[in-house]
Amino acid sequence: MTQAPTHVTDCALDRVRPPEASTRAAGPVIAIDLGTTNCRVAAIQGYNPVCIPSERMEGSPSVVALGPGGRILTGHAARGQQAANPALAVWGIKGLLSAPYGDRKVKWLYDQLRCKVVRGDDGLPAVVLGDRTFAARELAALILLEARERAQNFLRQPVYRVVLTLPPVRKEDPLPQIMSAAAGLAGMHVERTISEPTAVALGAFGKHKGKPERTAMVCDWGGGRVQVSLVRYAARQCQVLGSEGNVALCGAELDKRVLDLLLRKLPTGVRVAGDANNPAALYRVASAAEYAKILLSTQTETRVRVPFAATVNNQVGDFDVMLSRQELEGLAKPLVDAALKMCEQVLSQKTMFPGDVDEVLMVGEQCRMPLFQQRAKEFFVGVPIYVDEPGPSVVLSAARLGSSTSTPPPSSTAPRR
Ligand code: ADP
Ligand code: MG
Repeated sequence: MTQAPTHVTDCALDRVRPPEASTRAAGPVIAIDLGTTNCRVAAIQGYNPVCIPSERMEGSPSVVALGPGGRILTGHAARGQQAANPALAVWGIKGLLSAPYGDRKVKWLYDQLRCKVVRGDDGLPAVVLGDRTFAARELAALILLEARERAQNFLRQPVYRVVLTLPPVRKEDPLPQIMSAAAGLAGMHVERTISEPTAVALGAFGKHKGKPERTAMVCDWGGGRVQVSLVRYAARQCQVLGSEGNVALCGAELDKRVLDLLLRKLPTGVRVAGDANNPAALYRVASAAEYAKILLSTQTETRVRVPFAATVNNQVGDFDVMLSRQELEGLAKPLVDAALKMCEQVLSQKTMFPGDVDEVLMVGEQCRMPLFQQRAKEFFVGVPIYVDEPGPSVVLSAARLGSSTSTPPPSSTAPRR
């Protein structure tokens, strides 16, 4: 007998009203970077932008899940639920927003999701959680709403205005409208949208010595996408000359490869506890695999130990495998090389060579991996490479740009492709 889907009893979006015209200029402006993995929010405090933490972390996971009692959860709570029941959780929401339902560009993401994905009323993917179907814009709105509430608690005042950062898009791309609709559902007016490489470049302006008009390659290696963008920028202007992105080279793909390697390294007779109906042990091992990858950015070897996650001859035991940086680098090298190939393509479209850029600005937490920096050094021979707050730099710069309401918005031109 098939079970009736859980009734969704509580969804925060149902309590939010669209922003009223009277709040168009009211209160502070916050900035939100809705990343594929993490959502970061920043506001101006005094004269400086600050990234508002969530449970002592910089960002909150961009995850929505159906929790116990039919409650829709977001962020850390949703991530916890994802561990218990991956079929009732959705991540990679930014990827879902970026292409119509079924588009091959994001096939990689569809293959990873364990929840039910259907075609939404707007042609974008929608996700079924219990007895309710959530359009991609509603999932984004839930994440934006959590970020807005975090900012309101931090600032101790209502927030109605937001600057959103977006990947570089073509003029006709619907993403800015979809994100504005999502912000509206979360009760906010969109002050402006800023392309992520533009935010990075303008945030970096003045920090590095040299001529005032500069050309940079912005390499963004996040959890859900690699995006490389060639930008020309000065104090208050930035033009994106070209940009390429690929979801299949992302940090989560590397995590998948690490997990596969760890499973292959298990001694004969040992396997991960549970099965398809009880994936919690595998999820715990997958989380430990990601953590091991992060540790290997600063150490050369680590032990991946997950208590009670394995069975040895039908007895419960610990999952316990060593992983070295060298092994990790073997898995990462094809992804890193493919990312640098994308840089080459973007440069060649402008008949430029790696040595023609003034600097490489690295963002996205995955670029902390030493191999990426080392390979980039070899590729961009002699060009300075900067890795400066790769997680929050986008949102911090967007908050600064958003706060300067008396100054004209910096131009951000979509790449011509
Ligand atoms: P997004 O833009 O997708 O939200 P982030 O910039 O927050 O992504 O990067 C998240 C990715 O970075 C995840 O895959 C995570 O495992 C990885 N990551 C986080 N810290 C490190 C680190 N110190 N070294 C290598 N990878 C890291
Ligand atoms: Mg990002």
